[in-house]
Amino acid sequence: MDDCVFCKIASKSIDANLLHEDDLCVIFRDIHPKAPTHLLIVSKKHIPSISEMEEGDEKIVGHLINSAKNIAKKLSLTGYQLQFNVGKDGGQEIFHLHLHLMSNLSSQ
Ligand code: AMP
Repeated sequence: MDDCVFCKIASKSIDANLLHEDDLCVIFRDIHPKAPTHLLIVSKKHIPSISEMEEGDEKIVGHLINSAKNIAKKLSLTGYQLQFNVGKDGGQEIFHLHLHLMSNLSSQ
């Protein structure tokens, strides 16, 4: 999607200092952190929202959750929250699938 900021970050047409990249997702820090550690785990595929998942996308959603677990372990985050905002009424601002990882613990 040409005008999607998370597509641009995932394809590296804009820089976001990636903490992790694989075939299905990228991970980077939220630009306006709402916790001492606030990461975004973002699908490479442009899926607008959890509410617009198609058949087969559950593999990607599972991968986002597993990737959150792995990056938390790598950053020694022993506790954290995972959150999908779904739809405007659910607080979603960027309509490209992403999972928030927030922790009261700091990380570098
Ligand atoms: P949501 O409300 O679930 O759509 O969350 C979107 C999140 O993306 C917000 O927490 C924003 O602060 C964050 N965000 C928006 N643009 C960028 C960007 N260029 N780099 C990092 N985080 C961003």
